[in-house]
Amino acid sequence: MMFGKSNAKVYVKSSEGIKFSDVAGEDEAKENLAEIVDYLHNPDKYKEIGASMPKGILLAGPPGTGKTMLAKAVAGEAEVPFFSMSGSEFVEMFVGMGASKVRDLFKQAKEKAPCIVFIDEIDAIGQKRNSGKMGGNDEREQTLNQLLTEMDGFEGNTGVVILAATNRPESPDPALTRPGRFDRRVPVELPDLKGREAILKVHAKKIKVSEEVDFQQIARMASGASGAELANIVNEAALRAVRDGRKYATQSDLEESIEVVIAGYQKKNAILTDKEKWTVAYHEIGHALVAARQTQSAPVQKITIIPRTSGALGYTMQVEDGNRYLMTKEEIENKIATYTGGRAAEEVVFGTISTGASNDIEQATKLARSMITRYGMSKDFDMVAMETVSGQYLGGDTSLICSAGTQDEIDRQVVELVKRLHKKAAEILLENRQKLDELARFLYEKETITGEEFMAILNA
Ligand code: ADP
Repeated sequence: MMFGKSNAKVYVKSSEGIKFSDVAGEDEAKENLAEIVDYLHNPDKYKEIGASMPKGILLAGPPGTGKTMLAKAVAGEAEVPFFSMSGSEFVEMFVGMGASKVRDLFKQAKEKAPCIVFIDEIDAIGQKRNSGKMGGNDEREQTLNQLLTEMDGFEGNTGVVILAATNRPESPDPALTRPGRFDRRVPVELPDLKGREAILKVHAKKIKVSEEVDFQQIARMASGASGAELANIVNEAALRAVRDGRKYATQSDLEESIEVVIAGYQKKNAILTDKEKWTVAYHEIGHALVAARQTQSAPVQKITIIPRTSGALGYTMQVEDGNRYLMTKEEIENKIATYTGGRAAEEVVFGTISTGASNDIEQATKLARSMITRYGMSKDFDMVAMETVSGQYLGGDTSLICSAGTQDEIDRQVVELVKRLHKKAAEILLENRQKLDELARFLYEKETITGEEFMAILNA
């Protein structure tokens, strides 16, 4: 046994040969990484102008979305060696081993430059250090420090590009994401309907399938599944066909495999039931519709009901009109009404409510409270500050500076304000019930829609 050697697996050029075309969907991630490939092909072009590539790129997304594949594809496209190592492999046995493995890995990489170094599960070494675990982990910390030293040590243009993958985007140590280290972050999200269909087709090429298989239908049924799960579904279908003594897999093989595979993963991953998907669709359209009707303009860039890494089940990307430093009272109120629009849609449509609004509630409350305590936007308190903010750049902790009686009154007014705007949101939705249904159905079917599509339907 060789202690302190990195044992990094090295793949050189064609031995793996994964290309971007093997990774279905994930167009945004691929676009982002294409620049790295170009750099590895023509470093001179970049040197000439004085640009240096980011040293490290963090691929962040749920398990099985193709992060490893993407890293390999960058090496495959650029035809450079690929060193791969998992974060958990660094942290082993003896204190000090991890650090020496890191040193060895980078020594090898520099000899073989240009090349790609891929560190999977970087959170195993790069988790936030103060996460309060007992006893700390000296080994992990030493390994991380060595990694940071190596990254700081080499110049931007040595041709070693480090890609790292994490399933937990919120947890990397801030030291890792500082400029000059992993300063670029490429989100690799779960595939949407089109992406899922493409992934199914890529994997179906590897097995024999009947001609009348409707991949779109399968993709629709597997909403929320990751690339790895879809690959697994196709393989299960092939196994099922063999079991039944058939020569190729059929539609029903695929459909039944979805259940097998998804049931197995359900605990781990948020795969929405049909009812939940409808709820999320109405919820997200609720936000967008309330926003659109108040401002008479396109409120959103994109709405999606594909579960996100953050744990959100749906997501409405707001349009911000340029850089906003000032907001009027009306604008803040509109914003609060928009936050309540998701829950209001659930009430209007289903007559019942879900837990899906917890973040909205937090945001709406924060705004409403600030209006009263910090922005002087209430009748009763005029321009008197009721709250101070400390550490504005560190999240902004607030502390109340008023008497207990005033605090009670503030609480009462916050509730009143949110209630009023919640009611307004529900009224807007009731007035636009038909559009609400139409838009929710469209979102349910497409899973991701753009602001233009939204406005087209709204104004039709
Ligand atoms: P991650 O590193 O994100 O956990 P991997 O890259 O290891 O995921 O993917 C695991 C497997 O899932 C791959 O080997 C591939 O078969 C399949 N897969 C995942 N995403 C895709 C995709 N976008 N296109 C094709 N296959 C995929």
